[in-house]
Amino acid sequence: MSRAAKITVDLEAIRQNYRLARSLNTAGNAAAIIKADAYGHNAVKVARALQAEADAFGVACIEEGIELIEAGIQKPVLLLEGFFEVSELPYISEHGMWCAVHSLYQIEQIAQASLSKPITVWLKMNSGMNRLGIHPDDYQAAFQRLQQLENVSDIVLMTHFASSDELDKATTEQQLAVFNRASEGLDAPHCLANSAAVLAWQDARRDWMRPGLMLYGATPFPEAQEQADKLLPAMTLTSEVIAIRDVQPGECVGYGGNFVADKPTRVGTVALGYADGYPRHAVTGTPVWINGQRARIIGRVSMDMLGVDLTGIPDAGIGTEVEFWGRNVTAAEVATYCDTIPYTLFTGITRRVHKRYI
Ligand code: PLP
Repeated sequence: MSRAAKITVDLEAIRQNYRLARSLNTAGNAAAIIKADAYGHNAVKVARALQAEADAFGVACIEEGIELIEAGIQKPVLLLEGFFEVSELPYISEHGMWCAVHSLYQIEQIAQASLSKPITVWLKMNSGMNRLGIHPDDYQAAFQRLQQLENVSDIVLMTHFASSDELDKATTEQQLAVFNRASEGLDAPHCLANSAAVLAWQDARRDWMRPGLMLYGATPFPEAQEQADKLLPAMTLTSEVIAIRDVQPGECVGYGGNFVADKPTRVGTVALGYADGYPRHAVTGTPVWINGQRARIIGRVSMDMLGVDLTGIPDAGIGTEVEFWGRNVTAAEVATYCDTIPYTLFTGITRRVHKRYI
């Protein structure tokens, strides 16, 4: 290996995190959400690691589903955004994929399709997020229409929360109330919970759950939370120091010179930059982990390199490893320094970063 930037993905941690989700609702099932290449962790590898215990897998679109099927994944694959074109339906039917349906228009498209086998539909309600889903007032009629269709075998009732990571907001309770009212009397399983709801909203843990972020060991919450604090970070991003220099008070570091030393400072240049997926918005002070202790980023992140403060770090030299996120500094914490969320950090890792699976 030449350039040292790499992620190490701990597949056992992902299994443990999946088990945590299941343990919170032992009577229910959980579709492991592995869309967007398992949030940058590699969908096929994660699906294989979870295959023995996951009840199903969730992806965004048919291309992501085909990748799993072609890799030999046997568990049901749920298309969270459903189908985009009618031409996808025969493949969905043939391979037993489960398909979210979020509009009355799509229901009629299924009605008219010529399919070899009936499909399982996850009927999505817009309970307040106003992104995808059928209006609560139309939900019962949509359900009844699906029940009449020869092309539909099973129906799961589904909605998605806008703010389940904000524990003091009323939004989730309101969405639950809308969902419960609009689905009353419908004889079908429910699926409501994303990670934050799996972890913190007991009433949202129904027949099915859809944990995503938590599988990768990151908390969706800004504050400590009992269950989320048990998660094991799965992805560790590291690289190595490739140059060291001492700067004096008044000297600048990096593009724009926006870090100015106020005392003698040992600067380590590390082979990691925004073209690897490390956020350019990371400010001076963003934590990193070097030789068993916390250190900080200094100066602006460049395309291929960035600066860290090695002042006072014992035994730091060329080749010293720097952890950017992982077990010692979490992605969720780093995200707070870059005005983002751990989702974008994970999915932003680029092709040239080496990947290792343990
Ligand atoms: N369900 C749906 C419909 C989603 O769009 C997502 C992700 O955005 C998830 C579940 C998983 O959410 P999270 O990663 O917050 O657990």
